[in-house]
Amino acid sequence: MKFALALHGGAGTLRQADLTPEREAELHAGLDAALDAGLAMLQGGRAAVDAVLAAVRTLEDNPLFNAGRGAVFNDQGFVELEASIMDGATRAAGSVVGVRRTRNPVELARMVMAHTPHVSLGFEAADRFAEEQGLAMAPPEYFFTQSRWDALQSELARLGAGGSERDASEQVKHGTVGAVALDASGRLAAATSTGGRTAKMAGRIGDSAMIGAGTWADDLVAVSCTGHGELFVRSAAAHEVASRLRYLNQSLVDACDDLVFGQLIELGGSGGLIAIDWEGNIAMPFNTEGMYRASVDIDGRRSVAIFR
Ligand code: ASP
Repeated sequence: MKFALALHGGAGTLRQADLTPEREAELHAGLDAALDAGLAMLQGGRAAVDAVLAAVRTLEDNPLFNAGRGAVFNDQGFVELEASIMDGATRAAGSVVGVRRTRNPVELARMVMAHTPHVSLGFEAADRFAEEQGLAMAPPEYFFTQSRWDALQSELARLGAGGSERDASEQVKHGTVGAVALDASGRLAAATSTGGRTAKMAGRIGDSAMIGAGTWADDLVAVSCTGHGELFVRSAAAHEVASRLRYLNQSLVDACDDLVFGQLIELGGSGGLIAIDWEGNIAMPFNTEGMYRASVDIDGRRSVAIFR
């Protein structure tokens, strides 16, 4: 049995024209490192859920991506992190929202899945649970990046001048990291982590921590989404892909394309997703200019890309 892995670091991204070669190389290196972390798990015979956790944790530690350390700020000037994880073999799932002190929210989502009777925990109680479980905690300075702070200031100024939230530039709007995997025993898993949207209302909850919206895994498919979260929630996006496979017998590519280029566009939603099915097929469609993404397919073919 073979294994496969795909991951994303958010859709929207910089316009190709604005991306320096140095920054592009750093982004590629970040995606490569996350791919290696997930692959090491799969090569070692570990479960898909361990692979997606390792890949997402690596991206959370990289300040270039909007999750964990590099998270964007809300309208009050602090981070509120969200993450989720789902094991397709058992349908076990865990998610956290509004986390401010936990270094790796995806690890906390895994703890919620494994060590509580619940699926979701939020806010200060979730951070306290992380502490009790012995997870690494971090002070506010850890989550401070100058570029995110500058983005908040310009977005607040734009909103203050009467700009609409929907018209934010794609760089401001988008970001999130996620991974999907098929392991050597045929199990699927997905995980997603984000800082959300720049200047979001404090307390806002997006799709990334909602099982069925930003993240889904079952016996047929694993999905992780990125994009305008409210529209992904209103599309039950990740679960919609699974339903199309199960009930319409669509191919993975058709199911994902119908969602990303059909339903989401009709609702005005920009973004993309990564998905992997039980046969190891991978789809990574996006309706934005780019999506940071990387994959290794069941034949060991590796790809890392940003734009089309
Ligand atoms: N989906 C995330 C959110 O709305 C952001 C993103 O993926 O760009 O919080």
